[in-house]
Amino acid sequence: MAFAAIHPEAGRIDATLPDLGRGLTWDQVHKTRPRVALRCPECSHGVHAKVSARKLRYFAHDPGRPADCAWLNESLEHHLLKLELATAIRAADWHAELEVRAPDGTWRADVLASSHDGTQRVAWEAQLSPITAEDIQERTERYWAEGIGVCWVSPGGKAPWIGNVPSIRVQEPRDGQPWTVVDGPAAFHFEHGTWIAVDDPELTAFIRWVLHGQTIPHRVRPRYRRIWYPTSEGYRRRSLIWTTSRHVDTETRHEAMRQRQDERKRQREEQERQAEQQRQTEAEARRQEEERQREAQRQEQERQRKIQAAEDAARWAEQRRQREIEAEQARQRREVEERQRQEQARAAEEQRRRQEREEELAAGRWWAQLSPAQVDQLRDAVAEPLWKREATRVEFDPLGVTVDSAYGIAIHVRRRLHGILRPSPASLHRLPPVVPVYVRNVREAHELVSTGNIDPVRVVHFDLPDHEQMSLM
Ligand SMILES: [Zn+2]
Repeated sequence: MAFAAIHPEAGRIDATLPDLGRGLTWDQVHKTRPRVALRCPECSHGVHAKVSARKLRYFAHDPGRPADCAWLNESLEHHLLKLELATAIRAADWHAELEVRAPDGTWRADVLASSHDGTQRVAWEAQLSPITAEDIQERTERYWAEGIGVCWVSPGGKAPWIGNVPSIRVQEPRDGQPWTVVDGPAAFHFEHGTWIAVDDPELTAFIRWVLHGQTIPHRVRPRYRRIWYPTSEGYRRRSLIWTTSRHVDTETRHEAMRQRQDERKRQREEQERQAEQQRQTEAEARRQEEERQREAQRQEQERQRKIQAAEDAARWAEQRRQREIEAEQARQRREVEERQRQEQARAAEEQRRRQEREEELAAGRWWAQLSPAQVDQLRDAVAEPLWKREATRVEFDPLGVTVDSAYGIAIHVRRRLHGILRPSPASLHRLPPVVPVYVRNVREAHELVSTGNIDPVRVVHFDLPDHEQMSLM
């Protein structure tokens, strides 16, 4: 079914208009005899005027119609929606043409709204059947390329392109309510920072707003594409909505605010990042400084340790040198002492030899004073009294004069030392202790005692003459 047809004389006629748009009456095309040769504007097949049971005027294809005519399979519902759109456009004091196609066939509008001066056109598409996103986008851009606005209208709940192209979803009349727009227009709420769907305006009012430029299609900024629907209390994603320029400005203002916030946040984050970087840099610098100080301290300690070690080594070397010097001095001292000791020993030995020599010479002189007879005389003087008194035999040392007997002659009685005969005055220090000594006379006794080297009580003397008595010769 269709609302438009081509009249053989009047041209294109419209069943929705009282004068069919060409100053004709419905009766001039409906059930006339002979029949008016009306044609389908789309496929040029023959059509005839009809009235539905609900008094709806339309054109129907004659029998033998082509299967591919665009209008052929449209539903009544589709037609009623187109009629509603056309009625609302006319109520806004614009022209409305149904089922219009471009002269070159690039587009075909369900309802084309035109301003009186013909400068503005808006195509209203009642889209009931499924259509791909690519198709609807392409058809939209084709309108825009011709300078024609467009609004896709869906009466159903399932139209995935709602919000992708300029579009609305409408609700058919019920409970005495007129046609309403339930999806498409939205208002921006600054305090919420979001678009909120406008609550079900009447379709007639919406179309008037659009045609008068009060409501415009708007591509929502990416940040705001989750739109709040109060009636369903949920969000839906929409990139193209209908709204007023005031709300567009509000969105722009909000976006600017958000960008300022973003910028402030970015600056804050950048400041924090720089602060963190600064902290890290400072921490690294501190760490390096501490490391440097530790290294410097370590090197200083090492230096001090080396200095200490060098000082210790020098001190030890000095001490060793001192000990060596002292040892050398001690050695030299010992050598000197040893030399002195040897010298003293040599001197003492020399002294002893000289002493012995002198004693020997003195003893020689001592004994030279006596003749052998005088010696015998003295021996007898010692021996005779003992023999006479005690019958004791006196034995004179057969060695004669000996050094051990102080250059005198040892006298034994019964194998025991009895005394020393005439020791030399120069050698009295050699006398064995205690035993008496025997000399010739008081002069010799005096000579011994005058040395001071013998106790006078030990000296026994006789009265023998110093010179040989002639009588004894
Ligand atoms: Zn046709």
